Amino acid sequence: MTSAVCATATDPDMWFSSGGTRTKAVQLCQTCPVRSYCEEYARSLEAGTGVHARHGVWGGTGAKRRVKDRQEVQPRNADRTAVIRRLIERGMPPAEIAAHVGVTVRTVFRAKRTQREEATA
Ligand code: SF4
Repeated sequence: MTSAVCATATDPDMWFSSGGTRTKAVQLCQTCPVRSYCEEYARSLEAGTGVHARHGVWGGTGAKRRVKDRQEVQPRNADRTAVIRRLIERGMPPAEIAAHVGVTVRTVFRAKRTQREEATA
């Protein structure tokens, strides 16, 4: 947080505005030394949420862009379940899997339970 450009900005509301002011915030994010961490943090916070639950510019991207990015990388349901199962087998924590795949933690636990039930059947 201490290295974040927005933390020392004279007008932090820029990150929650629209139009030219918002564009300025996006440009400032491009110079931010913690941009990649910020973007990853936004993905983990917003995993599985729609555009109306997302606010502001994070990591140089607006809410709509983050939803679109998520949809582009989000595999179809069957593929998504396969990815979740592979990550479970590799021992990745559920919250990280959820953020990585773009689902809720509950979805990860559901896949985990199904996988366990199939293994014992
Ligand atoms: S990348 Fe994140 S931390 Fe850096 S200025 Fe943009 S919103 Fe702030």
